Amino acid sequence: MAALAELLTHVDADEVIELTRALIRIPSVYRPGDSESTEARVAAFIEAWLRREGFEVEVQEVAPGRPNVIGWIGEKTDGRKSLLLEGHTDVVTEGDARDWSWPPFAAERVNGRIYGRGAADMKSGLAAAMVAAAAFRRAGIMPRGKLVVGALVDEEDGMRGARHLVGTAVGRELDAAIICEPEDNELCLEQRGVVWARIRARGRMAHGAMPDAGVNPIACLGAILREAPALQKRVRQRCGRSRYLRPPTVTPTIIQGPPAGVGVPQSNVIPAQAEMVLDVRLTAGIEEDELRRLLDELCARAAAACPGATVAWEPVHPVRLATRVERSEPLVRSMMRAVREATGRPPRFGGVPGSTDGTVLRTALGIPIVTCGPGDRLIPHQANEYVDADDVHDAAKIYVASALRYLEAS
Ligand SMILES: [Zn+2]
Repeated sequence: MAALAELLTHVDADEVIELTRALIRIPSVYRPGDSESTEARVAAFIEAWLRREGFEVEVQEVAPGRPNVIGWIGEKTDGRKSLLLEGHTDVVTEGDARDWSWPPFAAERVNGRIYGRGAADMKSGLAAAMVAAAAFRRAGIMPRGKLVVGALVDEEDGMRGARHLVGTAVGRELDAAIICEPEDNELCLEQRGVVWARIRARGRMAHGAMPDAGVNPIACLGAILREAPALQKRVRQRCGRSRYLRPPTVTPTIIQGPPAGVGVPQSNVIPAQAEMVLDVRLTAGIEEDELRRLLDELCARAAAACPGATVAWEPVHPVRLATRVERSEPLVRSMMRAVREATGRPPRFGGVPGSTDGTVLRTALGIPIVTCGPGDRLIPHQANEYVDADDVHDAAKIYVASALRYLEAS
């Protein structure tokens, strides 16, 4: 306990909160086509902070103006482990600033809360991870292994930062990761998976007054809509029942005929093509090839219902399967103990309703991940996003204790 008590004296509540506020004040909405609006400035801030604290730092240029910043202390030698504390630097748009009671990038502190875009998702989690890792150096206690802080780009879209990381040396040698996303500081052992299935139907263009002269691809999409509930049932049968997550869903979210860029919709024209997106959310249990087969069959049935048409699908992003780790996993056991030691409270367990960078790490590297971070899981992406200052401090304490317990056990 002595080492942990010493480490905790270096996790100062005011510092974590002020660091959170500093990160919020550097807007990092990624706006395509605007080279000024990327993660670059907040990444540079984090890089400088980590260097000042004596971390080894690697900046990985994932895309122009979009760098991952990876900092670490300690080494992975003699069978020791490498643990990642992971966060993302991008935030979603603030939307209409008039919907906010406080300016979205001012990081105002009101009644124990910090308000701003990214307050929960997830500059507070990043700040907590940074201070937790820095506590080791400040306390003069080297971790028994390698403790890595990763501030990655593009989580809110294609997770390109995480995809890049898993192909690099520091990524490939990771043994476990804590994903610092806002989950009420619960230990989330499961995350839902997602595939956005873009389905394109191709028919034959014709005059709307003479439909027999063409093949209407919109009718194919109608067949898909009718079949969607049956697909949802099949997916649910193949996914296991989850203790923490709602069952899988299949939800149509976009329907367009003709698709954007393929023509202009006209009231008297049967388009040659039509497109829709099914937002498919998964729990653990189904494999990618099985899911692909179900979607292939769905398309085949829709095509059969529309003679002369073809129907095919592709994922908008690479398929993200659901993730699950067991309570017996050393990372989970270390974190259960860490929550008790750091907060004096028993751990609470939960599940992540969406996918995170942890999905990529778990899928690509096969390593255990636990998602645990400060902030209400329902608040991200809303106006007046906030985080409770106490939660941020708790998260930093949980991270430092988790890192100590996980690495010393290996
Ligand atoms: Zn997030």
